[in-house]
Amino acid sequence: MLDQAVTVDPIQLVQLDAGKPAEESPVPKADGQKPLFGMDGEALSALMSEMDEPSWRGRQITEAIYRQRVADLSEITTLPKTLRQKLASEGWEVGRPRLAQVFRSTDGTERYLVQCAASAKSAETVETVWMPEGDDGESGDGTDSISPPTDAERAWNRATICVSSQVGCAVNCQFCLTAKLGLQRNLSAGEIAGQVVSVLARHGVEVGRERVNLVFMGMGEPFLNFDNFMGAVRLLVTEVGLSPQRMTVSTSGIVPGIERFAQEPVEFRPKLAISLNAPNDLIRQELMPINRKWNIEAVVDAVRQVKLRPRERITFEYVLLAGVTDQAAHAGEVARLVRRTGLPVKVNLIAWNPGPGIAYSMPQPGAVEAFRAALASEGVPTYLRRPRGRDIYAACGQLKRTIEG
Ligand code: SAH
Ligand code: SF4
Repeated sequence: MLDQAVTVDPIQLVQLDAGKPAEESPVPKADGQKPLFGMDGEALSALMSEMDEPSWRGRQITEAIYRQRVADLSEITTLPKTLRQKLASEGWEVGRPRLAQVFRSTDGTERYLVQCAASAKSAETVETVWMPEGDDGESGDGTDSISPPTDAERAWNRATICVSSQVGCAVNCQFCLTAKLGLQRNLSAGEIAGQVVSVLARHGVEVGRERVNLVFMGMGEPFLNFDNFMGAVRLLVTEVGLSPQRMTVSTSGIVPGIERFAQEPVEFRPKLAISLNAPNDLIRQELMPINRKWNIEAVVDAVRQVKLRPRERITFEYVLLAGVTDQAAHAGEVARLVRRTGLPVKVNLIAWNPGPGIAYSMPQPGAVEAFRAALASEGVPTYLRRPRGRDIYAACGQLKRTIEG
């Protein structure tokens, strides 16, 4: 099937704000500048003490950059002007990643090329996505019943932000556009959390009142950048005020990463999604060479170490590739595989999003529906991820590849 021609929708790329900053925040300066964004309350308090300032000034900075989403030092008006100037003269800046370009889909999805402070010089970007109303992939794991939405939440409904963890990716899944970039570098904790804060700022989201889900499903393999990924989660929980129960991290099945993840305290542990993507090891290792290192059984064994919350489920993501993973027999195999794990699992089906240079085909809508129905009839909770932002190249890594490639 690898020799099949790729079928790309005849779609038009709509680019808004081309080439100019989407926000008023300054372009992060290269070289020698030190970002405050990424430091937690403790680190900022320590910094203040080092500068012979009262340590509670650290709290004020935390409040300003993570809660009020101030993007420039000069705007942290709770600090005396002299202190702001002193910080600036020592090379400190807020240094939050900047939404450099915005692409808006007709369905409301927004996709951003985000420029990170550390890479301002090279114009290196990652992708972040805002999906109002989500893509339904995050629903149905039972957590909604823990806290029913308040009236305010219902009025605003919900949104999902898809976050990148690396520039490019080393894992080399054959159907994925990010893989084509190779791994360029890891993002820091501040660069990961900063994507979220920049998007919250753009949409004026009231954290705590309005419902926002995070999915770490953008560019990169979070579990191959584990410390920075978990550092970002801790910042987002502690300083930004988001709940880990509304966050889902997706991994291609990096077993040592899953094992470390299982050790994380529940107050900082997002939910877990595994990119299964195939009904058996034979097909999976063709699509995901990483399967030769850690096969399905090894991944499932590691997943068993995660102590799930009441009603929490593990998500298996499953990309449907025409002729390769979307056959009726495959659905039966997936249902048996899910049952064998004995884990509370739900399956998120994703129709493969095409992209330049990848020789797979999108599944027929009939095949997608038949696959969903087959799994459901076997009693497997199954959800279909709605394709979002097709007109702006919504699949992971697609926008960056399309613009730059
Ligand atoms: N690296 C992590 C997270 C990022 S990829 C992982 O692989 O899990 C997030 C999800 O997007 C994965 O489930 C992956 O299988 C899926 N994906 C990648 N490329 C895709 C494409 N072109 N169309 C649809 N889904 C894709
Ligand atoms: Fe990396 Fe995930 Fe893409 Fe695989 S699917 S190449 S792990 S980003």
